[in-house]
Amino acid sequence: MEADYRFLTVDEVPGYLASVPALAERIDAGRLVSVGEIGDGNLNLVFLAKDADGRGVVVKQALPYVRMVGEGWPMTPEREKHEIQSLLAHHALVPELVVEVLHHDEGRHIIGMEDLSDHQVWRHALNDGATHDGAAAAVGRYIGAVAFGTSVFGLGRQELADAQAAAINPELCEITEDLVFTEPSVDAGRNEVLPENEPDAAALAADDTFVDAMGRAKYAFMTHGEALIHGDLHTGSVMVRAPQGSTVADSVKVFDSEFAFYGPVAFDIGASWANYVLAASRAFAMGDDARGQWALGLVDQTWQAFEAEFRTRWPERVDPRVWRDSFLEERIAAWRAEAWVFAAAKMSRRIVGAAKVTDVQTLPPDLRVGAARGVLAAARAAVRVSGDRSATAFSELCGAELVR
Ligand code: ADP
Ligand code: MG
Ligand code: MG
Ligand code: MG
Repeated sequence: MEADYRFLTVDEVPGYLASVPALAERIDAGRLVSVGEIGDGNLNLVFLAKDADGRGVVVKQALPYVRMVGEGWPMTPEREKHEIQSLLAHHALVPELVVEVLHHDEGRHIIGMEDLSDHQVWRHALNDGATHDGAAAAVGRYIGAVAFGTSVFGLGRQELADAQAAAINPELCEITEDLVFTEPSVDAGRNEVLPENEPDAAALAADDTFVDAMGRAKYAFMTHGEALIHGDLHTGSVMVRAPQGSTVADSVKVFDSEFAFYGPVAFDIGASWANYVLAASRAFAMGDDARGQWALGLVDQTWQAFEAEFRTRWPERVDPRVWRDSFLEERIAAWRAEAWVFAAAKMSRRIVGAAKVTDVQTLPPDLRVGAARGVLAAARAAVRVSGDRSATAFSELCGAELVR
């Protein structure tokens, strides 16, 4: 551990902000009205400071372990480099959709960033029944911009190699490989479901089609280095904002990309789809079918915006001589098919695995049982269906399982 790596504390934040010019110019560190640790994620410390003029900054520090578990699960704090690299690269492509990085403290693994506390974490907004129209499309546009702009299609050869080299992130990737692909069907001692759902988890683990699909998906995750993907693009990694009284998002920001690496484009698509299905499962469990259908509709909104953004950028590809339009159609179709399986993986891990989601966990147990059962059934159904089907077909198939 570096000598100067100390954990940041609330008491230290004012002095820290004053000592960093890039942060001190965003906030009056001598006139702070509040400093708090607001982290609610699984991994890191996050501090929000506000000054008397209402201006704010956020500083996030990576710990040498998983916050959710503690020192018993060590994890490299170097992960903040991957978060910074990807946030900067993605911000350059779609500045309006990615949180702005203000400062990097390598020794202490601290990131200073734009204060988004006038936004809400999208998962919280979804749980509250809010509608931020345009958010799902914004997520799709972000994925499309990243898929093109950080890939062989958008980068020169040396630039690509430099980005790939910087993005080697095995420790964080291994967490995904274990938790998302292996552990939903192979309990490593971290899984937990309600007793009433134990047969559902056992049926998932005994489903050869599902386990085989997870094996293929894990292989794809580990070998298809297509783009500098976000790697953790659930609805808790997106902030949304709408004007008072409006149901339309006027700002959508992606953040928390420490899992970024050169991986499959469809992994981010599938992650978003899975989280819309989880949001839908909550609504259906609560008896709000209209809301459930609305949440399922986000699947196609993200897909359509992804596809449109990628197609818009396609004319700028590096080598149009051999990467002809027929190849574009092949890629789009392949990504759509892969997204089904990645989504299934992400859905199942949130039900049986170590890191769960509030969409389902905050349901009363009697409603949670049915929601969990529906999501696992949807995941199993999704991997059974052949690849050449639409995003809408995916959400319809999941919806049928959720309401069963
Ligand atoms: P972790 O990597 O531990 O999941 P996150 O980056 O997701 O950490 O941050 C945890 C929480 O801190 C978020 O869910 C959000 O509530 C808050 N947060 C993070 N970044 C910002 C920001 N730039 N502005 C406002 N709040 C933020
Ligand atoms: Mg997070
Ligand atoms: Mg790292
Ligand atoms: Mg994180």
